[in-house]
Amino acid sequence: MPNRDIVWENRAKTFLDQLETDRTRAEKRGKGRKHLVSIVHQNGCCKVDPPVLHASPGDKILWKFDGSTDGGYLFFPVKELFNGHVHKIPKEGVEQPMGKVERGRYPYAIYCKTHNCFAVGNSDPRIDYP
Ligand SMILES: [Zn+2]
Repeated sequence: MPNRDIVWENRAKTFLDQLETDRTRAEKRGKGRKHLVSIVHQNGCCKVDPPVLHASPGDKILWKFDGSTDGGYLFFPVKELFNGHVHKIPKEGVEQPMGKVERGRYPYAIYCKTHNCFAVGNSDPRIDYP
């Protein structure tokens, strides 16, 4: 009965191939998604919505101040996240592709010119690459 081993081996191989295909598809699907991060005007200081964003390399993020604010600046401790530590957010907003980074949690900060303070989330705003 040597054939039975071969049959099981082939089944296992097919299963693993399928798993790999699914994984590749999921990764491809994840690329190029678009996210909006709103910096919402309110009394005191602006608020970041969503406070925690789930994004992957290649996804695009549109940073936009809502309301009649003068825009502001983005600060990233990890410069590879958006190709630089500091980026200006003009009134009309700015779109940026997420760069290649290791999976992890990336806190950042948004400075609001109008309020002269850092916009707040529930805690510090963060990008998670799960
Ligand atoms: Zn503000």
